This record gives sequence, structure tokens and C-alpha cells, in this order.
Amino acid sequence: MINMPNRSPRDVVGEFLAQKPIPMFVGGSYRRANAGGEIVVTRPSDGTPLATIAAGDASDIDDAVEAAATAFPAWAGTPVSERAALLHRIADVIERDKEILAMLESRDLGKPYRDALDFDIGFAASGYRYFADLAVRSSQSNTIALPHIEARQVRLPRGVCGFIIPWNAPFILAAWGCAPALAAGNTAVLKAAELAPLTCLYLGELAREVGIPPGVLNIVPGLGQKAGAALASHPRLNMISFTGSPATGKSVALAAASNLTPSKLELGGKGAAIVFPDVNVADVTSQLTAAIVRNAGQTCCTATRWIVHRDILPEFLASTTSRLESVRIGPDESDAEMGAVISEGQRQRIVNYLNVGREQGAKFVYDGGNAPLAGYEQGYYVRPMLLAGTEDNLCAREEIFGPVGYVMTFSTEAEAISLTNRTSYGLANSVWSADLERAARVAEKMVSGNSWINAHNVFAYGLPYGGINQSGWGGGVNSPQTLRDYERELTVARPLR
Ligand code: NAD
Repeated sequence: MINMPNRSPRDVVGEFLAQKPIPMFVGGSYRRANAGGEIVVTRPSDGTPLATIAAGDASDIDDAVEAAATAFPAWAGTPVSERAALLHRIADVIERDKEILAMLESRDLGKPYRDALDFDIGFAASGYRYFADLAVRSSQSNTIALPHIEARQVRLPRGVCGFIIPWNAPFILAAWGCAPALAAGNTAVLKAAELAPLTCLYLGELAREVGIPPGVLNIVPGLGQKAGAALASHPRLNMISFTGSPATGKSVALAAASNLTPSKLELGGKGAAIVFPDVNVADVTSQLTAAIVRNAGQTCCTATRWIVHRDILPEFLASTTSRLESVRIGPDESDAEMGAVISEGQRQRIVNYLNVGREQGAKFVYDGGNAPLAGYEQGYYVRPMLLAGTEDNLCAREEIFGPVGYVMTFSTEAEAISLTNRTSYGLANSVWSADLERAARVAEKMVSGNSWINAHNVFAYGLPYGGINQSGWGGGVNSPQTLRDYERELTVARPLR
């Protein structure tokens, strides 16, 4: 299945998807589920079956953990520069196969192909490079200066790391977890999301091609209640990283805690954007609209609560409305700005939130409507919406995970900060102002993992990203700390007599 120079990306994608089922990747080999489980994956753009995948259960997870445990000593003992070289080779082949991967990701998620190509695939590749280089540069042993004791602290890989990821950005999220873990010398079992597992499964092909040893990376898709729960509670895991909803995150952390397995959680959010009156309104509304349209609003950290100064409210609403009217919605292979949402269940969830929001008194400033897309009536489309109202409305409080903005107003800086922080989430907020001193002051008062200034959704490797409160725990991702999260510390000491 490896991409050959004489086969077009479309042909490779066609062959990959034609496998019935697309097998899971365990111990360096592709194979079916032990119990023969399969899941049909749907194409959100038109609601048709896209692929059939092997769906793992507890016995497949056992096999994957066993393979990872067997591979661990040799991988941990491989010089860090050789591990790093292999991670760079993974990035090389991801970049070579970017069109294949973007086609798979866009069809699987319903997102525009261009978005997957320009962002998801390349950004994932950069993650493998960042952690490869970071691991090579990091010192594994620090001398501790003490009287009468010769001492040092050594950092070592933990062992087998489990990863459970959601469907909204699978290729990136697999990289955010697996890249630091593998760079640090751990082996990995990745439980891909049942709704969007395709690029994760293709990653196995790439790992095998570049020579990642069998068992170092294992990829088992399956239902959360079966494969996910089995991984979270597996007694042989040395670390688990979960990305997804707060409710599932709590159950994963509890299951891991019953084995004293450390966990990292990257969870949902209800991001605020505070807009002061000194901004260029058209520019801000354009960027905030892009934030809710990106990935059809299915982005954990995106700006969903728009806290706008009263003085600019009429101009702000008029500008947003005209921007929303221009949003082109279409299927994965069109030049659309926004695609479908992931599933009929997700579409229904968004509609339900909007119905409750309306009952609770929210004003629909821009009601894109639930109109199906002509020619794609079976696809899972929701048009963007702009609501306005009070902070007690359900749509202002809970993560909808759809293309919905909710406007609230403020008069004073203190009021805006207080409104921003009155949430159980704590992932990411932004502040928009021409006064950079004020922006910095407000940014530092936000109770969250990330405060962005005059932008929303800011990602870079080396820029720590994580949540607090209901949005996560355990150190976050994308930073030097992330590499350390996948290491255990060992103190070596010798009293000097
Ligand atoms: P989810 O919690 O329903 O599922 C996430 C993963 O957990 C899936 O692979 C699923 O199969 C698995 N799972 C489900 N039940 C399980 C169980 N009982 N035990 C173990 N695993 C189980 O979340 P979702 O709907 O797939 O994703 C959306 C959520 O993810 C949103 O809340 C979003 O904000 C969050 N998210 C957070 C980040 C971040 O970096 N903070 C990034 C992306 C998504």
C-alpha cells in the first residue's frame, strides 16, 4: 500500500479504502480484530459509507499492549539520535504523502480538502520534527549540588503509553501525543476514534515503511466503551493520555487511577473573545467568524462566547452578519470554507442546543438555518449561527461543538474579565484591542491555559497549550514540558564519606 511514484494519490486512497476491513496495526503487522469486529465509517459530506474498519475490543488492546511492552526495552535503549532520525523519516513520508493523507482526513471529517492539506497534515509532520529535535537537545541527567552527597536526577522513558483521541483532528492529535512519547523512548498504543480513524490507520503504513520497529507504535480503532475503556483500565500501561470530552476524560482518569497509572487529559472548552471598542471591527468579526467556521466549529479551544463592548455592538453585529452570509458551505472536495459536521448525531446535538437556546430566550442574530445542502441532502450540514443573549443561556454555558457564536456585552474591563471567567472550563480565551498594554493586562487575568491577543486559535510547537479546570490536567501539549511528561525521574545518590 505504500505510495509508489507511479500511482496517483487518488488511486492510493481508493485502494486503501477498498480494504474490507481496513485492518488494525499491532506489533508491526496489519490484522483483523480478534473477534472479527468491524465498523462502517461514514463520509459526512454525503452520508454514504466511506470505509469499513476492523474494530478492536479488550483482547486486541491486550495484544497491542503486549506488543508495546515487548518492544519497549530495545526502543528505550536505542540512542536518542536514532529515534529522532526515525521520527524525522515519519515527517518526511507524511509530507511526501500529504495529498493522500489530506484526502483521507477531509473525507473522514467532512472538512474541506484544502484545510486538511494546508493545516492538519503539515502541522502534524512538524510535530514529529519538533519532538525529535527536542529529545536530542534535552539533557537526560542533571547533577544535583549537595553537601556530602554525589547526586543526579536521570530522566528515563516511562514504558507503554496509551493514547485515546477524538475525531475532530485525529492526525494532529495522534502526533501531539505519539511524537513526544516515542521521542522520549516510550512505546505507544493509539486508540483511534471510531468516527474518524483513517489517517491514524494509514500512519501505521508510514511507520512500517520508515523502519519504526514492530510494536513501537500500535494503532487500534474501536468503540470507546470497548477498546477505549479496555485501554484506560489496562494494568500494564505506564501512562495514558486522553483527548476528548470532560465526561469521558473523568472516566478514563478514574480507570487509570485504579491502577495508579498517571494520566494526562486534554478536554473541551467554551472559549471567550473579549472585544474592546478600539478594534477594527471588520477585521475582528472576520477572524471570529473564521474561528467558528474552521472545522465547522468542532474545535475545542475556539471562540464561542463573544464578549463585545456595548459601544460597538450594532456595528459588530452588522459586520458579523455580512461575513457569515459570505461563508461558502460545501462537501470535502469542493472549494468550500466550511464542510459538514462529523455525524448525524453531532448535527442533531447542535440543533438541540439551538432549540433549547431559543426557548431560553437567546436572540438569533444570524440564523443560518438547518437547511440541507443542495445535491448533498444526506450530508450532515449545519449553517453558521450567531446568537445573542444573557450568560445563563445553555448556549452560552456549554460546549456546543458546532459553528455557533454567542454574543454578550460589557461596559467595563472588570465586567468583561469576570464574565469570561464565570465558566467551569479553562482552555483558551482571547482579547482584542489596539491598546496592547490593556490587552496584556486582561490576558493575564483570564482563568485558562491560554490567552491570545488579537487572534484566536494560536498554535506553534514550543508554545505550551493545555487546559485547566474542566478543560484538562497533566501538563498540556506541544512544549518541552510535554516531552518530560513522558519521562519518569530517577534520583541516583551516593553519600561521600
Ligand atoms: P469523547 O470523549 O466522546 O471521545 C473521545 C475518545 O474517547 C474517542 O476515541 C472515544 O472512542 C473514546 N471513548 C469514549 N468513551 C470512552 C470510555 N468510556 N473509555 C475510554 N474511551 C472512551 O469526545 P469526542 O466527542 O470524540 O470529542 C470531542 C471533545 O474533545 C470535545 O469536548 C472537544 O473539546 C475535545 N477536544 C479537546 C482537545 C484539547 O486539546 N483540549 C482537542 C480536541 C478535542
